[in-house]
Amino acid sequence: MKLSLIVPCYNEQEALPFFYEEATKVLREMDETYEILFINDGSSDGTLDILKSLAKKDEHIVYLSFSRNFGKEAAMYAGFCNVKGDYVAVLDADMQDPPSLLPEMMTILESGEYDSVATWRENRKGEPKIRSWFARKFYKLINKISDADIVDGARDFRLMKRDMVDTIVSMGEYNRFSKGIFGWIGFRTYWLSYENVERVAGNTKWSFWSLIKYAIDGIVNFSQTPLSVASYFGLFMTMCSFLALIFVVVRRLLYGDPVAGWASMICIILFIGGIQLFCLGIMGQYIAKTYMETKKRPHYVVSETNGDDVKKIK
Ligand code: UDP
Ligand code: MG
Repeated sequence: MKLSLIVPCYNEQEALPFFYEEATKVLREMDETYEILFINDGSSDGTLDILKSLAKKDEHIVYLSFSRNFGKEAAMYAGFCNVKGDYVAVLDADMQDPPSLLPEMMTILESGEYDSVATWRENRKGEPKIRSWFARKFYKLINKISDADIVDGARDFRLMKRDMVDTIVSMGEYNRFSKGIFGWIGFRTYWLSYENVERVAGNTKWSFWSLIKYAIDGIVNFSQTPLSVASYFGLFMTMCSFLALIFVVVRRLLYGDPVAGWASMICIILFIGGIQLFCLGIMGQYIAKTYMETKKRPHYVVSETNGDDVKKIK
């Protein structure tokens, strides 16, 4: 098998027929052996029925259906664990990752100079301004404080060689952040840019808050820097309190000791209390992640599939 596509689908009944048609057209023109692996991530609409009927009429179609919604990261992992191709691509089902780019990506890989072709969006057309602003800040921050280098506007859409896929499969962490994983494992990556495309049908599954949560998860999964924030604050507060101590002593010696300063005292107590809770919260984030990792729960559970030797639980 030359080429495998991984397509996570969560309530994509409107977009799937478009995707199938376009992807099949492109793949036929490329004239390679291929499979399209759809992962039904616990959809509550007709996604699974569509996948079944596609699989019935087209032998290139493999589907895995999760027992519930496990999230896109789990769906991608299931894909990586079960594809057979020498070249593997991940695409969204909504055509925001245009299949028409595949031939160009394939040519770049086959030239032998690169191990993967990643994509990024040149602009964020059609996206709320405030979301773009936060996204840009997030990419700046995570590049500064982690080993995973991530291009601003990077998509999960990628074509990669087998070696890279095997490495990704070997990274069995429970808290997955694929953009970070791709960057962390290295390999020679070519960055291809394209114009943002709006989804062909259906709605995005991301709300503003789920994106904020995604960003925080990404940082916690790939950087230890926030943990040291507590020690920086601690150092800073120690220096401040030392200065304050000198101030208080000198004032006592010069002016006696009238009882005053209730307001400033309360402010200081609240301020320090706030910082302490904030730092505890940061530690809590890491402890929670560690807790989930130690449980070693499976990433996904497949309840239905048409594939042979599928890893149903991993
Ligand atoms: N997706 C998924 N599980 C989820 C959420 C999303 O498999 O819990 C899939 C979805 O079907 C789509 C891709 O992930 O193929 C990207 O989702 P979406 O288009 O909603 O995200 P956006 O493009 O807006 O970032
Ligand atoms: Mg989308």
